[in-house]
Amino acid sequence: MFIPLSEPNLKGNELKYVTDAIKTEWVSTGGAYITEFERNISDYLKVQDAVAVQSGTAGLHLALKEAGVGQGDLVIVPTLTFIAAVNPIKYLGAEPVFMDCDDTLCMDINKVEKFIEAQCKMVAGELYHIESKQIIRAVVVVHVFGNLADMEHLLKLSNRYNIAIIEDATEALGTFDLDGRAAGNFGQFGVFSFNGNKIITTGGGGMVVSKDNIKLSHIKYLSTQAKDDALNYVHNEIGYNYRMTNVQAAIGVAQLEMLENFIKVKQDNYNYYKQVLKDVDNLKILNFRPDIRPNYWFYSIQLMGYDIDEVISQLQKYKIQTRPIWRLIHEQLPYRHNIKFEIEKAPIYANSVINVPCSSNLTKLNIDYVCEKLIEILRTAK
Ligand SMILES: *Cc1c(COP(=O)(O)O)cnc(C)c1O
Repeated sequence: MFIPLSEPNLKGNELKYVTDAIKTEWVSTGGAYITEFERNISDYLKVQDAVAVQSGTAGLHLALKEAGVGQGDLVIVPTLTFIAAVNPIKYLGAEPVFMDCDDTLCMDINKVEKFIEAQCKMVAGELYHIESKQIIRAVVVVHVFGNLADMEHLLKLSNRYNIAIIEDATEALGTFDLDGRAAGNFGQFGVFSFNGNKIITTGGGGMVVSKDNIKLSHIKYLSTQAKDDALNYVHNEIGYNYRMTNVQAAIGVAQLEMLENFIKVKQDNYNYYKQVLKDVDNLKILNFRPDIRPNYWFYSIQLMGYDIDEVISQLQKYKIQTRPIWRLIHEQLPYRHNIKFEIEKAPIYANSVINVPCSSNLTKLNIDYVCEKLIEILRTAK
């Protein structure tokens, strides 16, 4: 028995809708499932509109471009994230500025404010980083593992300093604050991913949402090769081949029907892990923020005083797949020379937290087995 970290769950209407898409022969970047998926996601998130794209990375690329990020600009990002939140900044010729995380594992917004106050100034309505003389155009905030960053605070900074917020909500579809406001619906742009490991999947795919319909339709235009006249092949801008296909969207429509069920199972399983592991020394299951309804995508277990690589490889022997959270991005080869600010907590979490199996079809028996083996390993691995 192999227990994967996070596997897709395709037991709803996926096959039916995909078969339907194939029967109609609409398999490429046009078709009714794409618009249906966009509409259903908009309804679910209570946003006006959404644009379906090839991947979360493609969505982030277009959102950053639409936010005005270009050559020589700076963009504030967390160092504790998947690298796809950062690379699109470089695609646009801009540079990331790395920030620490707080205890939610999301970017520490207090430190963002501290950085701005200490190292930046407003000139003619734009925020400059004093030493490099570069403009801070935007911030990419990541809702790590389905948690929610401190958006209230970040929105204040965004207004005060005229910096655009792009929410990387790729891990947070289904996370809402207690007023029912969705992760992805706070900033100028919100981006979702439907990669195979995300809470719902289309194989690969993404979605961009925004309150700005004009910018959103421009994103759609850019995602479809910037066609100004489809018949005569007139293109007045440089576009991309970033549109989602109808087959992907057919899977997405079926997956979205299941999302709230997935979240219920994930919430139950998260609570069950907590219960089973509650008396284990030097182990802590990280909480989601109390003032939200998280999607419970990934569970994070902090192990104090252990070599987590050793624990992970021991668990592998029992066919239990776990993983460390990410290597910090400011330490990765392409980013070692970028600006960073007071990174203190991220290395601690990166060296002590593992993600444990959390698929939406994980059973209580699976969890019993994972916890039994984990406890056994911790007893000897110290
Ligand atoms: C998955 C993920 C992405 C990228 O999404 P893709 O659809 O795989 O391109 C970006 N940021 C974070 C934090 C992610 O977890």
